Amino acid sequence: MSEYEFDLFTIGAGSGGIRASRRAAAFGARVAVAEQQFLGGTCVNIGCIPKKLFSYAAHFHKDFEDAHGYGWSFDRLSFDWQALLEGKNREIERLNGVYDKLLTQSGVELIMGRAKVTGPHTVEVGGRTYTARHILVATGSSPTMPDIEGAQYCISSDDAFYLDKLPRRVVVVGGGYIAVEFASIFNGLGVDTTLVYRGDRVLKHFDADLGNFLAEQMALRGVKIRFNTEIHKIEREGEALHCVTGDNERLSCDTVLSATGRLPNTKHLGLEEIGVGLAPNGAVMVDQTFQTAVPSIYAVGDVIHRMQLTPVALAEGMLVADHLFNGGTEHMDYSGIPTAIFSHPNVATVGMSEAQAIESGHTIDLYRSVFTPLKHTVSRSGEKVLLKLIVERETDRVLGVHMVGDDAGELLQGFAVAIKCRATKAQFDATIGIHPTIAEEFVTMRTKVAP
Ligand code: NDP
Repeated sequence: MSEYEFDLFTIGAGSGGIRASRRAAAFGARVAVAEQQFLGGTCVNIGCIPKKLFSYAAHFHKDFEDAHGYGWSFDRLSFDWQALLEGKNREIERLNGVYDKLLTQSGVELIMGRAKVTGPHTVEVGGRTYTARHILVATGSSPTMPDIEGAQYCISSDDAFYLDKLPRRVVVVGGGYIAVEFASIFNGLGVDTTLVYRGDRVLKHFDADLGNFLAEQMALRGVKIRFNTEIHKIEREGEALHCVTGDNERLSCDTVLSATGRLPNTKHLGLEEIGVGLAPNGAVMVDQTFQTAVPSIYAVGDVIHRMQLTPVALAEGMLVADHLFNGGTEHMDYSGIPTAIFSHPNVATVGMSEAQAIESGHTIDLYRSVFTPLKHTVSRSGEKVLLKLIVERETDRVLGVHMVGDDAGELLQGFAVAIKCRATKAQFDATIGIHPTIAEEFVTMRTKVAP
């Protein structure tokens, strides 16, 4: 008889926690997972899934406009926010049910309630203490709010998924993933949208061409973008909000969405008290095997604040289970992780940006193509796409593939495989294109461009 009730006690039933728990159970471990709110975590409930559904909803607007060029006409378009919320909520409930079933079927015990770690092998939930050989912290992250006067009037992306009514005018603060995605969603749904960013380029951690091109294309679709502008305070006047900028300008709206980053959920978890190290931003500090300073305690996903992406949390969770219960020795490879930003148009990227390649000492050749896709020759929307390849001159290896344009995320997944396989530009060139597509340009670009 084991001295512990469980082999693994996971805190948080989000992407990383559920995947690690199910995998561990499949290896024969006795597993429990504690969840205080909803199954599936941020991704399923207030992140990737509802965001993508909203993004689809918003995209129809432009699709209808594009259809005019193809001969379609409509008397009147209308949009029902409540119908979108209901559809979205139905899908989330369905997914919550799927996760519940997956856990039960894999033999994982689900314990609803807020968990607190009380020792290297003990977790308390709802006044009861559970014992476990290993504890996995997978509690995710939460949006931060700017430290300014009137910040209480801001909503976060969490709230944006449950607004009673669609705002008429919105100000979105930030220049990262969530800011450009939600600015695109609101704009597509017909909301007068202003994006305020303190820097001079959105998506500043990606290849510079991506952010610059995206901003142009978003502006073309009607988003007002204010660079190098900081909001110093937000004032309320009746139903209206006024964002006061550093230049004393007042941007009036009825909703301010703060998209200024997400921080790890480690407060009141009891981790520091028992010796688990936390970084200044609250992230759980782990080694290559996701082990914390307390050997029986592990952490994965947003809570370790490496890459806040669902597929990364899934991979980390699987590695932990494999390591603990299957003798696994593999480490997580954070290179060549593709990512997509579901702004309108989409952005997707894998591998190095031009600046990263140069900074890391590579001599590179660049291939860049900006063109009007066939669809928009007839729609006459003015929309263009950007495709870019970064190639290491010495080895001919493709170091980075980048795109701004419709379905960029769908398209770059395949190119991510090529990058993982260390494909060369000659191999790209030897690949026959699929015609007529946007993607064929990736295998037909022959002319090097200046940096
Ligand atoms: P990001 O880190 O992507 O962007 C935060 C933005 O807020 C930056 O532009 C930053 O500016 C700005 N900012 C930070 N603090 C302030 C402040 N005090 N005042 C004004 N602006 C500020 O965070 P997000 O919240 O957009 O998203 C969090 C994470 O979630 C992402 O990094 C991503 O990993 C994940 N995510 C992934 C998605 C996907 O896969 N499609 C979708 C949504 C989120 P500066 O750059 O100047 O610091």
